[in-house]
Amino acid sequence: MQYKEITDFVHELYGTKEFVPLSVPQFAGNEKKYLEECIDTTFVSSVGPFVDRFEKEIAAYTGAARAVVCVSGTNALHMSLMLTGVQRDDEVLTQALTFIATCNAISYIGAHPVFLDVDKSTLGLSPDAVKAWLEANAELRADGCYNRRTGRRVKACVPMHTFGHPVRIREIVDVCRKWQVEVVEDAAESIGSLYKGQHTGTFAKIGALSFNGNKTITTGGGGMLLFQDPAVGEHAKHLTTQAKVPHRWEFRHDEIGYNYRMPNINAALGCAQLENLDRFIESKRQIASAYAAFFKDIPGVQFFTEPEGCRSNYWLNAIILENREARDAFLEYSNDNGVMTRPVWELMNRLPMFENCETDGLANTVWLADRIVNIPSSAKV
Ligand SMILES: *Cc1c(COP(=O)(O)O)cnc(C)c1O
Repeated sequence: MQYKEITDFVHELYGTKEFVPLSVPQFAGNEKKYLEECIDTTFVSSVGPFVDRFEKEIAAYTGAARAVVCVSGTNALHMSLMLTGVQRDDEVLTQALTFIATCNAISYIGAHPVFLDVDKSTLGLSPDAVKAWLEANAELRADGCYNRRTGRRVKACVPMHTFGHPVRIREIVDVCRKWQVEVVEDAAESIGSLYKGQHTGTFAKIGALSFNGNKTITTGGGGMLLFQDPAVGEHAKHLTTQAKVPHRWEFRHDEIGYNYRMPNINAALGCAQLENLDRFIESKRQIASAYAAFFKDIPGVQFFTEPEGCRSNYWLNAIILENREARDAFLEYSNDNGVMTRPVWELMNRLPMFENCETDGLANTVWLADRIVNIPSSAKV
């Protein structure tokens, strides 16, 4: 049976007959040492040398002009949308094929997601879909782009680099610029992924990373904002640290701020993880090429590979099955036989909070959602 061939291959790949999880963190470096340093020096909380170091090192790694830590990827997205000027009752273009955090961040502001289709070649938001929707529905007024039907302002667009595969980000940025729509990149899954040699999350005004436990590197929980303009980064730092005016003893705050600052102890974990990021990605890419070679000979299964001109971190490997029945049969078999597999997230427009949101029909999105299965992807180091 073909499904047995697949689960046998996964067990062989990970050198075990035991249960193989989807994605687990690896602590192979200085994690313990840096955590001990935090405890020994008492700098465990929201101020400390690892916070500054982690920001500097992520900026250097990604090529961003400034990086600012957050407590999670979700609040990094929330902050990004606020900093691009999204307000209550604005509309935000995004994909329905994403993790809930993308849409929760939009909702925190009281803005409304509009769900547009993805490309089958990237699994992420399609610039063609964005362009077609804007041309059919939007008009430019003195103060920006408006949805003619709802009368609401279309303020931002949030593409997501699904499973670490870069979307056609340059084209999305170009279309959005023409329509005066700000782009925020949800790069939560794509640390180390490059689009034409440039790091994802650095193509627009702001990008957001996540360091949750299941991501390519983890700080336990955490996120990072990436900026091209250091001044916007400074404002983010201010807002994420309760908007306190620097002073030797006074407590003065000059706007509504947030306690979104990552503790030093989490940043310490991040610094240690970052030292091994290239090894993790190397390993994940080797696993992906082993899968690609194996699935070539498996009829009815397509292994999803990085889009042309991109380097993907292969955060989560994905296969595309023939139809929903085959997907469900494979999910059943693999989870019964020691290999953890998962379907893609339930589409956002099918969740009760977002079921009345506008969509463009989502042809590719629906097709993919019926067929995608994620398979084990942990780095081996
Ligand atoms: C992980 C993730 C986030 C952020 O999640 P946190 O758990 O809050 O760090 C945001 N968007 C996507 C697409 C994600 O996968």
